Amino acid sequence: MNWIIPLADLNYDSNEDNAVLSVLHSKWLTMGEVTAQFEHDFTEMTSSPHCLSVSNATEALHLACVALGIGPGDEVIVPSLSFVATANAVLYTGARVVFADITSPNDLTISPVSIEACITPRTKAIIVMHYAGYPCDMPAILEIAKKHNLHIIEDAAHCPGATLNGKALGTWGEIGCFSFFSNKNLATGEGGMLTTNSDEIAAKLKLLRSHGMTTLTYDRHAGHAYTYDVVELGYNYRIDEIRAALGIEQLKKLPANNQLRREIVAHYRAHLPAELTIPFANHPGISACHICPVLLPERHSRTAFQDYMKEHGIQTSIHYPPIHTFSYYKQNFPGPHHLPVTESIAPREVTLPLYPTMTEEQIDYLMEQVPLALLASKG
Ligand SMILES: *Cc1c(COP(=O)(O)O)cnc(C)c1O
Repeated sequence: MNWIIPLADLNYDSNEDNAVLSVLHSKWLTMGEVTAQFEHDFTEMTSSPHCLSVSNATEALHLACVALGIGPGDEVIVPSLSFVATANAVLYTGARVVFADITSPNDLTISPVSIEACITPRTKAIIVMHYAGYPCDMPAILEIAKKHNLHIIEDAAHCPGATLNGKALGTWGEIGCFSFFSNKNLATGEGGMLTTNSDEIAAKLKLLRSHGMTTLTYDRHAGHAYTYDVVELGYNYRIDEIRAALGIEQLKKLPANNQLRREIVAHYRAHLPAELTIPFANHPGISACHICPVLLPERHSRTAFQDYMKEHGIQTSIHYPPIHTFSYYKQNFPGPHHLPVTESIAPREVTLPLYPTMTEEQIDYLMEQVPLALLASKG
């Protein structure tokens, strides 16, 4: 489709071109000095002492579960209102997921009250997801985790550069998992980052990322080692230098891009019709504003709304069809689930276009078309 306004768009220029070319000319293509630089730069942004890049966030989430010893017989609490990878990563380990509800129509992040209700003697961990880049209630969730001796993993796919009480999202729990998929705030095509404050967990993640091997190909190339031992059942979840080089350039642009996203969302909040609920009014912290979810009024047709927008060249999306409603999950996790807020808002959610390179004309056109789409969607 040739959209007048796509849902998301890259902020790429000759800096990315040159970064990739310089990797190609260096003749070293996989995890090496450029990756080390990217991880170093990510540490500067997050203040997380250990940043380990991987080839996507799904793998980051999987490694996080493995590193924390999650496996068969364990339960992990996850929000149903997330991308399916949040739950899939748990299932890869043989553990089961228990779906928690979100807080309210204004706060689409996992509800601490619902988390407590999901805890059983088998619960081993909680995966929180900072929906759209807005912080979960981390102080309350940390308290619950401490009380019940649970691990916390943060699905930070939406929130590079976001903070709560001055502390980077992705560094509140034991392990943070970032995504650099092509429609994310920091885009490298495929890519991801693990963050942790723990030396012990970092060492474990490092081994698991590359076959459980005690030295890397790069160490041998650099003359630091001749051989290696295998001390864990590891994976090949490495990133390559080309993507790491893109990551370095994208990370430089991230603060300004996130600021533009916040300004555009502020404009939406001021100018979209009051009939629409725009969640996260008066939210705490500084959001990465990854996406702009809105809730249609009751009894409006979401399909009619999206059809109208599509006919007028504007791409919209849905974040998310709740995970517990997918066929695979219905078969394997039939419930009963107690997810009243998720079930009431999910059918009304539409995601509007949002990206830092949106022009004023595009924004004006969007503001013009949304009220008409609302009219077209009236039941
Ligand atoms: C994009 C995304 C993921 C998966 O990231 P990949 O890097 O594509 O594996 C996981 N969770 C959420 C919430 C996401 O938005």
